[in-house]
Amino acid sequence: MDQLHLLWEFQKADVEVDKLEASIRRSPVRQQLVKYKELYAEQQNAMKHIESEVATMQDRLEALKDAIRMTNEQVHALHAKMENEEPKSAAEVQQFMNDARRFQNNLTAYEQEVKRIRKDAADRERQQHDVRVRAAKAKGEFDKLKLVYDDEKRSKDGELEALKAAAAEKAKPVEREFMERYREIKRHSVPPLAALNGDQCQGCNMSLPSSVSRKVKAGELVECETCGRLLIIL
Ligand SMILES: [Zn+2]
Repeated sequence: MDQLHLLWEFQKADVEVDKLEASIRRSPVRQQLVKYKELYAEQQNAMKHIESEVATMQDRLEALKDAIRMTNEQVHALHAKMENEEPKSAAEVQQFMNDARRFQNNLTAYEQEVKRIRKDAADRERQQHDVRVRAAKAKGEFDKLKLVYDDEKRSKDGELEALKAAAAEKAKPVEREFMERYREIKRHSVPPLAALNGDQCQGCNMSLPSSVSRKVKAGELVECETCGRLLIIL
């Protein structure tokens, strides 16, 4: 058997390996597993997002507490001043009224904001609870399915090892130069070898010039000008 035909024999075994690997990757159990994993990761991201929102709210609440304390001190100081010093003019009384109103307005605004943040924080707590429940559910489903997947994988792995060993055996008589060419073509066309049937490439079904068939028959290595596969006459 010439090198090209030995390579053809190897390709048959190689195709079987690829087929099984693809079926392992496409396994519905595996795909479902990936979905649960993604769902879990999504919940973790959502949790991080909520935590950072809550941290921002807490910072703002601290700042508001300080602002309220300071404003209360200002109100106190204002009242103390009014009690200790009789106002000297109507303008001074007016000034006092204005200041008192301004402080009161500030306090009201701060307190409303505090209320709003507390309500938002309560919403976030509910959200966190929902996210936690969803995350735990995804994790539970993942763990259950992982056992099924591991079983499935173990049996497929055995099969895969056998196919790989068979392919390795077929690869032994193939010269390195041919194998390298095979791997090179495999990067863009799978499988890399195509039978030439008359003048037609069986890899891409294109008709090739009759000179191609002559060259292949003469033992030249010729790649299909359309799909780039290495041509063989069986
Ligand atoms: Zn072709």
